[in-house]
Amino acid sequence: MLQGLTSDDYQLVLPTILRRAETLYQNQEIVTRRPDKSFHRYTYVDFIARAKKFALALKDLGVEPGDRVGTLCSNHYQHLETYFGVPSGGAVVHTINPRLHEDDLAYIVNHAEDKVLLVDEALLSVYESFREEVNVEHVIVVSESGEDIPDGMLSYEDVLSGADEGDFSYPEIDEKQAAAMCYTSGTTGRPKGALYSHRALVLHAMMANMSNVFGFNDSDCILPIVPMFHVNAWGLPFSATLAGAKQMMPGAHLDPASILEDFEQEKVTFTAGVPTVFMGVLQTLDEEPEKHDLSAMRAIVIGGSAAPKSLIEAYKERHGVTVIHAWGMTEMSPIGTVANLKGELEQLPEEEQLEYRSKQGYPVPFIEIRAREDEGSLVPWNDEAMGELEVSGPWVSKAYYNAPEEDEEFTEDGWFKTGDIVSIDEQGYINIQDRDKDLVKSGGEWISSVQLENALMAHAAVAEAAVIAIPHEKWDERPLAVVVLKEGESATEDDLKSHLAGDFAKFWLPDAVEFIEEIPKTATGKFLKKELREQFEDYQFAQS
Ligand code: AMP
Repeated sequence: MLQGLTSDDYQLVLPTILRRAETLYQNQEIVTRRPDKSFHRYTYVDFIARAKKFALALKDLGVEPGDRVGTLCSNHYQHLETYFGVPSGGAVVHTINPRLHEDDLAYIVNHAEDKVLLVDEALLSVYESFREEVNVEHVIVVSESGEDIPDGMLSYEDVLSGADEGDFSYPEIDEKQAAAMCYTSGTTGRPKGALYSHRALVLHAMMANMSNVFGFNDSDCILPIVPMFHVNAWGLPFSATLAGAKQMMPGAHLDPASILEDFEQEKVTFTAGVPTVFMGVLQTLDEEPEKHDLSAMRAIVIGGSAAPKSLIEAYKERHGVTVIHAWGMTEMSPIGTVANLKGELEQLPEEEQLEYRSKQGYPVPFIEIRAREDEGSLVPWNDEAMGELEVSGPWVSKAYYNAPEEDEEFTEDGWFKTGDIVSIDEQGYINIQDRDKDLVKSGGEWISSVQLENALMAHAAVAEAAVIAIPHEKWDERPLAVVVLKEGESATEDDLKSHLAGDFAKFWLPDAVEFIEEIPKTATGKFLKKELREQFEDYQFAQS
């Protein structure tokens, strides 16, 4: 090897982001909407001091490098502190989606072996719903009300006050060590864990800050509407801190009026979330366009589900705001493609530009893509041929956490099979055409068709049941159950819905049940979902 190389042992770890922020952006602000809607404000100096205190406090509580610390929290400054405090002490921050069913929550906490759980006061009832099933050593409550912390639990503020940030020194962390983790829904089995290394998160943050991605800088104010339990809020807290940007945390106030107030008051330049949220915001904007000032907004990132072309167009035409459509996955930390306009396409007429902007976009730097047909060959990039999208890159999962048997989603050469059916155009933009996974995505949250089908078929009157996604104006998709009753048996829609009610989160319950004679099947007897979807192509739910 040649001598005199650049430093190849510099570790790309999250504390490097903190160290930069604490020397360059001390006075930058972080604003949070508290539960009572008042604003909490502090600077990066305070944020970093508290993140360090949390790292020290965890050590005192017996948390060792590599241990998992779970969070059941909304988007607020305390959650941001854990995003950095937990990995800066060498442990792994495991963000948990409180909207899941209690059985899945218990499974996730047990599978991850969370040693400590940080829980918002407002989400204590969620924790109570599964506490008997798990065995965490410490529960720390984030409270803003001043009310007593339940017996046996700790207060986040008390935990911090016992530590002195002067005692903190950055430990040596290998960039390949885990920093964060998040679970995603399985189609049949239990949720699966994606584990993110320091290196993956640092490179992902740097990628997001490139000008052909989001291009954040220290003049920006970034508001993640996407929850911090959804794949690290798409990495925004990491990229925003790396850029030294102002951060605005909406807390649990995600109604359009509060969001618009935050945008205007804090001069938000960048925000991100699923289509459902921005449809609601658009409606409010349209009702009183003169009342709202979005002149500071540089772009809204919409992803998680397909952003309709009409939505992208409406923001631009009626409110002068650019929407950046993006695609990603839990297994990709999550960003994969972003539909910015490539320079050579800027000359195109507006209508054609919109076509590109409505696709899911072209791969971000370091993400490589290809799509494969059923027969196994790769499809040409001609905007027509369709195949399953496969991806590779430094922040793409290589396996699921502690689930070696879950390997069918990885190719032999180590690419991840996304389950999304796409065409790729000559410019490299992907267009998601279908989904090869039996899931319904409602308002950005997964619902497993297979689990609902199995539960329905456990009903004494049901012979066969299939659950399919029906496009929905507000939620993007909602589940429809298609049921064949056993001969001589009867059951109503309400009977079947109440049969499901106890076992699933409320939003999982099908919006309607349709009774038919027979479910189309393949020669081997599997449900032909494609045909069933075609049969119900024009289906409309009676009421939304
Ligand atoms: P999750 O792991 O929950 O983030 O879900 C990832 C999946 O959501 C992808 O594999 C897609 O099926 C879907 N998805 C994410 N972003 C988009 C998008 N912009 N358009 C269509 N589907 C999307």
